[in-house]
Amino acid sequence: MATVKENLQRATELQHSDSPRLDLEVLLCHLLGKSRAWLYTWPEHQLDAGLQAQFEQLLERRIAGEPVAHLTGSREFWSLPLKVNRSTLIPRPDTEVLVEVVLALCPQEKLALLDLGTGTGAIALALASEKPGWSITAVDKMPAAVALAQENRDRLGFDHVSVLQSDWFSALDTQRFDVIVSNPPYIDTQDPHLREGDVRFEPRSALVAEEQGLADIRRIAADARTFLAANGLLLVEHGWEQGKAVRGIFTEAGYDEVETRLDYAGRERVTLGRYRRP
Ligand code: GLN
Repeated sequence: MATVKENLQRATELQHSDSPRLDLEVLLCHLLGKSRAWLYTWPEHQLDAGLQAQFEQLLERRIAGEPVAHLTGSREFWSLPLKVNRSTLIPRPDTEVLVEVVLALCPQEKLALLDLGTGTGAIALALASEKPGWSITAVDKMPAAVALAQENRDRLGFDHVSVLQSDWFSALDTQRFDVIVSNPPYIDTQDPHLREGDVRFEPRSALVAEEQGLADIRRIAADARTFLAANGLLLVEHGWEQGKAVRGIFTEAGYDEVETRLDYAGRERVTLGRYRRP
């Protein structure tokens, strides 16, 4: 048995994590059902034998590389607690930039928005939390992701979000959207990062795309033109070195006002454009 403080000192065992101390804090909070502030208020609290054994198991799995979000089954996004599992991408803080840009560009209280490849539902649910009057459709081609996004939607009680199974636009018919957003797969198949860290435990279908990672973005930019309302906005997340290429794809597809916004590290992350129907 050990105290909270002694368990946190075991961060030194997590040599391959970028945030070993935080990882242990999150695991302990999960096991104890407490906040991080509580850990610092009660450093001498002793874990009982059962919890200590569970902590040892989680630590071992984290040392073997499993993402913290898979160990706890949850990840916070836009301050919303989202259930996470191996069927989708784990929501990233940088994707909150996409949410911020949509909110900044769309002050209206009524609007129809589509989130393509929703995964956990992170983007759609974050926007839904801010905009109760928006009608939000979230789609994913993987049935397990659809089930997860629906569960997250139900837990949060956001009735104005509908979640559908659809391979990009395949299940949508004649509906038009004022805004279409996506965090599609955009990593090149050869990217060495795919062999490191959390991404090893995430589905490749959520991460990797052909044509240097640009194939799905190209397809979305082309097909979104059919589903956007007049002057509708398209916004996609992409890799920090893909800004120029994505602006080119948008411009060639006939979008106007094409621009790229930066993530919290100051790197090009979200490109947007407006489609004026010819
Ligand atoms: N940003 C993620 C990463 O680099 C990738 C997300 C994605 O492919 N949509 O790990």
